[in-house]
Amino acid sequence: MQHIGIFGGTFDPVHWGHLLLAQATLSQVPLEKVIWVPSLNPPHKKAALFKNRAEMLELATRENPGFSVSSIESKRSGTSYAINTFMDLSCGYANTYWYWITGLDTFQTLPRWYRGRELAQMCHWLIAPRLLDGRTIAQSELICKEVEQQLTQQSLTIRWELLKIPLIGISSSLIRKFCRESQSIRYLVPESVRYYINTHNLYSDKSE
Ligand code: ATP
Repeated sequence: MQHIGIFGGTFDPVHWGHLLLAQATLSQVPLEKVIWVPSLNPPHKKAALFKNRAEMLELATRENPGFSVSSIESKRSGTSYAINTFMDLSCGYANTYWYWITGLDTFQTLPRWYRGRELAQMCHWLIAPRLLDGRTIAQSELICKEVEQQLTQQSLTIRWELLKIPLIGISSSLIRKFCRESQSIRYLVPESVRYYINTHNLYSDKSE
């Protein structure tokens, strides 16, 4: 049996926090690979063009043989729901144990996802700690247990584990903000991504 992780996100743009998290899954879990899946039309988010986000992901991940990028969502229209992505992606693989990679903020909302209960049971969840509402890293486990409890109350079992990575306060929104303010994003994203953002003049619109 092979072990594969799916890392879904908006990646608007991809940053070092995403890369460190994905690498931690390769190092801490016996995964053969991580498939990065940029969402086409993420629920509750307005995002840069799919093409730009996917190209930046290609640039950021190309040196790591354990990473691949899937453009599966570009083939679908409408809102990008994780369950649909999982169904489409997984039908191309036989005999696979699936992991879903996520930050704590996203994992916390799982019970409210569209068909989230089904997805919760189909994957093993790998969760990165992230500072939430001023709660500390020590409370990350508690937050995961709260999610587990909510699902258990609905008679669902979920397999999950917290990854051991340092907290990284980088987010895509921070990078977009720095770009709008003409501040440097050097060392927040890989150089190839920084170059791409500059040459394509992304995120500089002050009205956003
Ligand atoms: P935004 O700031 O626009 O909300 P983001 O930085 O959270 O974006 P996403 O593409 O929405 O980036 O995130 C994809 C996944 O990566 C989510 O599960 C998110 O929780 C996780 N993630 C993003 N940044 C970090 C980080 N610094 N540490 C841990 N997890 C992260």
